[in-house]
Amino acid sequence: MKILSLSCHDIYKGPLILVNQAHGLDESAAEDLIPVTESRPDALLQRPAAQALARLMDEIGGWQHIAFVSAWRSRREQQEIWDDSLRENGPEFTRAYVAVPGHSEHQTGLAMDLGAKKEQIDFICPDFPYTGPCQDFRESAAKYGFILRYPEGKESITGISHEPWHFRYVGAPHAAIMQEQNMTLEEYTDCLKRFPYGSGLRRVADNGREVCISYLKAAADPICLKLPEEDSWSLSGNNADGFILTEWR
Ligand SMILES: [Zn+2]
Repeated sequence: MKILSLSCHDIYKGPLILVNQAHGLDESAAEDLIPVTESRPDALLQRPAAQALARLMDEIGGWQHIAFVSAWRSRREQQEIWDDSLRENGPEFTRAYVAVPGHSEHQTGLAMDLGAKKEQIDFICPDFPYTGPCQDFRESAAKYGFILRYPEGKESITGISHEPWHFRYVGAPHAAIMQEQNMTLEEYTDCLKRFPYGSGLRRVADNGREVCISYLKAAADPICLKLPEEDSWSLSGNNADGFILTEWR
């Protein structure tokens, strides 16, 4: 057995962190950034997200038709994008499509913008149509742990306009559950609070294994958890008030 001690400072890291207007980013959230493809050494994602994306692109032959538009950004880059967009597009457009610096998913290294390959690609609103290879990507995304982060009809919840090109890594099986239940990350992390540790949400995942997902509220004193030594669980902060434990049985 392994004994894990979780302090309230650990809630800011992991694939399920919620970053939006209400929940800013802790500088430590982006860790272990690696390039996704050799052709774009500047486009970085956190290692599990980069590896999942590489497998997904291999499956669909994606890099022939899909371009990487934007991956991890530093706070300074996000600030520059915000300032440029304010100057060029005005405040209304900027607030709809650009996250406030310090509150951008791109600063986590878990999110990316993709565009259909063509000569001119719009940096802020790239074309990512609901047909052809882009649609193939969308249909396989959840299996590899990616969600469309800003869907149509959920603008009042996410605070960002519909962005067909922006994908976020949350990991398996969470992406598949969110897609099946038509939930945004805001709704999903909120819903999981109904499943405290000991009464977790159970379901059979795509790989046939039973998975149990539960929520642990952070406290002033560290939480101690006894978990199996082997690689049969994962833990993520929610960037708000606690942790999400995923156990495979
Ligand atoms: Zn984006």
